[in-house]
Amino acid sequence: MDFVSGLRCRECGRTYPAEALHVCDYCFGPLEVTYDYERVTATITRERIAAGPRTIWRYGDLLPVADPNPVDLGAGFTPLVRADRLAAELGLGELWIKDDTANPTGSFKDRVVSVALTKARQLGFKIAACASTGNLANSVAAHAARAGMDSVVLIPHDLEKAKVTMTSVYGGRVFAVEGSYDDVNRLCAELTSEQPEWAFVNVNVRTYYAEGSKTLAFEVAEQLGWQAPDHVVVPIGSGSQLTKVDKGFKELWQVGLLDEEPHVRVSGAQAEGCSPVATAFAEGTDAIRPVKPNTIAKSLAIGNPADGWYALDTIRKSGGSCASVTDDEVLDGIRLLARTEGIFAETAGGVTIASLAKLVAEGVIRPDERVVAMVTGHGLKTVEALADVVGPTATIAPTLESFAEAMAADAEAASTQRSSR
Ligand SMILES: *Cc1c(COP(=O)(O)O)cnc(C)c1O
Ligand SMILES: [Zn+2]
Repeated sequence: MDFVSGLRCRECGRTYPAEALHVCDYCFGPLEVTYDYERVTATITRERIAAGPRTIWRYGDLLPVADPNPVDLGAGFTPLVRADRLAAELGLGELWIKDDTANPTGSFKDRVVSVALTKARQLGFKIAACASTGNLANSVAAHAARAGMDSVVLIPHDLEKAKVTMTSVYGGRVFAVEGSYDDVNRLCAELTSEQPEWAFVNVNVRTYYAEGSKTLAFEVAEQLGWQAPDHVVVPIGSGSQLTKVDKGFKELWQVGLLDEEPHVRVSGAQAEGCSPVATAFAEGTDAIRPVKPNTIAKSLAIGNPADGWYALDTIRKSGGSCASVTDDEVLDGIRLLARTEGIFAETAGGVTIASLAKLVAEGVIRPDERVVAMVTGHGLKTVEALADVVGPTATIAPTLESFAEAMAADAEAASTQRSSR
């Protein structure tokens, strides 16, 4: 049995039953899942969680659907890696990487999709659909296959090759739309009213989908021995993940799982080529101006973010900040993380690491803080972004001489590089 008490409008507070609803009938505000926290508190314990599966479903008491057999490929419970070498380069004392590259389809989207499709199946939906910047498409197609559901996935036509292949292989229908993600999203909103029998994970079941991101906070706290960090850095696409990470830490406190009340500063990370939230933060305004995205961080390329205002509000209330970084900085961020910690992230991870570096340099993130950076997608998804900046040391003939020559040339190049610094 789940502990959901219903849905509530985030704007006017009106309540609704836990059905396939996502906007308020009165004010068109987005709906949020509410729980009976007294009943959760009476049930949930650290031991009960520890005895659960090593997936997001160990936190089922704080998820919007209970099912002994969820739609599950093993999302969640990804490594939290202490990153001392990266911390030393950046000048931080205690830094952790939440390595969500380790999810079944290589991104944090498996968390939200596992929740969304489990709820969609319970509500009687047979077809899973979505508008996606790529990773959601991968995850919806895979989880639909796992659940025996049909899938209909709409993506912008210019996505990375790996993301298109990874979506198509699962046997669902994939439509490449000649337009940006915001065009795809608008088309999906129109389709949702035409096809009420389809579960659009980020439209008509978005309210449930979004709750899956709380598990990032749950895991970080559990992996830190039931403590919250001081500061988290979260990439922003729609802004949903950032708001739910914040909600996750607060819920743990509310249901008595933390010894100390968390005061987590939440900072956002965006690419300069699509930074509506960072811009509003820098300008000190409440209005998020939609932009036309132009960045290699395609998984974050949402010009008109659905939860942008809520993300901004969360950042401000928590005492965080919001950085934006250039595409070159994104590539540097990917290489820095790979070189120091052995973790290969996609462009969104490069955005997070580059933003982390920027926020440390600006003095926003302090050296005495315990910091967690959310690295949300695997580097193999966006290899083409690195084509011009990394490659073999040399191409050689299969002889010892050729190898020795190349080694000498490399040593020479390295010493010139050092002396030119
Ligand atoms: C979708 C996505 C995000 C952003 O999540 P939102 O909830 O849309 O803000 C971050 N990282 C990766 C890898 C993603 O695919
Ligand atoms: Zn309302």
